[in-house]
Amino acid sequence: MITFEEFKANVAAVRERIDSACRAVRRCPEAVALLPVTKNHPVDAVRFAARVGLSAVGENRVQEAHYKRDSCPEGVRWELIGHLQSNKAKQAVAIFDRIQSVDSLKLLGRLDRAAAAANKQLPILIQCNTGEDPNKYGFKVSGMEAAMEAALEAESLRLDGLMTIAPFDEDPAVAVAAFEKLRELRDELSARFGCPLSELSMGMTGDLEQAIAAGSTQIRVGTALYGAREV
Ligand SMILES: *Cc1c(COP(=O)(O)O)cnc(C)c1O
Repeated sequence: MITFEEFKANVAAVRERIDSACRAVRRCPEAVALLPVTKNHPVDAVRFAARVGLSAVGENRVQEAHYKRDSCPEGVRWELIGHLQSNKAKQAVAIFDRIQSVDSLKLLGRLDRAAAAANKQLPILIQCNTGEDPNKYGFKVSGMEAAMEAALEAESLRLDGLMTIAPFDEDPAVAVAAFEKLRELRDELSARFGCPLSELSMGMTGDLEQAIAAGSTQIRVGTALYGAREV
């Protein structure tokens, strides 16, 4: 694990990348939130984020977030960004403040029931596999209309927007296409359903510039902030 000084320097470097990506397309840097991804890093990764004023972290496993949450400062928000099995919906609802990786109708239904039972209104994003990557979870583009209907009918879920993970490819055009597809989809669905879908969670260490150019409102960054993950 890196030191806090190194972490601060990494945050500054990522902020600089955000600023210059925004400048290039005349977007306001305040419109792009930075979500530090602390998965596979010790609890200190979360404490470091809180110390520089980053108030939410991304984790990809229920178990790991559960034990970290117990030893972390109050006030940090926890976002689930990894695939969730529907039989863990109840646990996930207890631990996470938002679930970005809603990738099936079955999971959506389970989360709604678990949130209702916990007397919670659970913020979610719908994950779409816009890059049609066979190695990635997420609704197909053709399934997004049904996903939207179900999410809007779910009384204990609050739909904030959409999330995608671009396919890993040396050619940046592949990520660009996946991000632009998510933005277009958002515009279409938002108009059709009369729902703002204001959050577009897209972009990671390797492709955040492309994501910001395509309209990302939140980038999820692990490696550029914390170095390689300790698996
Ligand atoms: C791990 C992960 C990230 C962060 O990836 P880096 O390349 O380390 O920045 C972002 N989003 C999701 C969904 C992840 O699983």
